[in-house]
Amino acid sequence: MSTYIAVDVGGTQLRVATYTEEGVTPHQQARIPTKSSEGQAIDRLVDLIANLWPSHDKVAAIGIAVPGPTNPKLGILYSAPNIPGWENLPLRQLLEDRFGVPVNLGNDANLAVLGEWYFGAARGHHNVLYLTISTGIGGGVICDDRLLLGEDGLAGELGHVTVLPDGPLCGCGQRGHLEALSSGTGIAAFVVEELRKGRPSALKLNPAPNARDISQAAEMGDPLAVEAFARAGKYLGIAITNYLHVFNPSIVILGGGVSQSGSLLTGPMRAILETSALSAEYYKRLTITRAALGDDVGLLGALALARITQREVI
Ligand SMILES: [Zn+2]
Repeated sequence: MSTYIAVDVGGTQLRVATYTEEGVTPHQQARIPTKSSEGQAIDRLVDLIANLWPSHDKVAAIGIAVPGPTNPKLGILYSAPNIPGWENLPLRQLLEDRFGVPVNLGNDANLAVLGEWYFGAARGHHNVLYLTISTGIGGGVICDDRLLLGEDGLAGELGHVTVLPDGPLCGCGQRGHLEALSSGTGIAAFVVEELRKGRPSALKLNPAPNARDISQAAEMGDPLAVEAFARAGKYLGIAITNYLHVFNPSIVILGGGVSQSGSLLTGPMRAILETSALSAEYYKRLTITRAALGDDVGLLGALALARITQREVI
């Protein structure tokens, strides 16, 4: 029997799990904090993999999900904003030299769509769009049964498309990107600005409302909170209409904490799709659904990558 090792590098946790050739239940798994005074993250990651290395079975491949722009063809992580020192890190080479088995990596949002396609909400689909909406917005695309990578592996940055020229500042430094308007951070920034202008709202008692606070206020009918989600949904709808025209997916999967706000966000989003798509063919059979894999999406995306690359599908 062969073993596959999946690694999920997060800003707060490093997770490693081992799997057999089939199935999604880990044989063994472990997690440790990403940051520690006891050594560098890379050394601790290597130790964690070594600790779970099977004593009898052969390891077929290692797949790794990493939290930043990545060139999967070269096996290099360009940067990981939450992990000091991880810049231009040749992670594949480092781990292949240490463990002597094939290693493949991908950014976490790209591997999330791979995981949802292989094991989750998008099984059986051939064209899939995935957006994770939390403090930022990440994305990934399955296009005609392949993970869309682009020339340098940098495709799928669905949060950094311009939906409002000269709009609010994005986490990346540019203005008017989807992330600046429809992420949890963008929703909260809008509410804080409106409160500063003196808008009445139950949220004015909260000095720093986050997207969850705003979602709860919206469910209670607070007009400013409802407007904040309607605005986020509108810009999400504008972006998704653009994606429909480019990729023509059969399913759009929404992950991340903000997507749990449900119809507060998706109602206004769907209204935009249905009024601005080129034709009803783009949306009349379109499934819009929530992500299915939850907290394990990084590990399962990495597992899918390890198994697929062994079969040389991508
Ligand atoms: Zn941006």
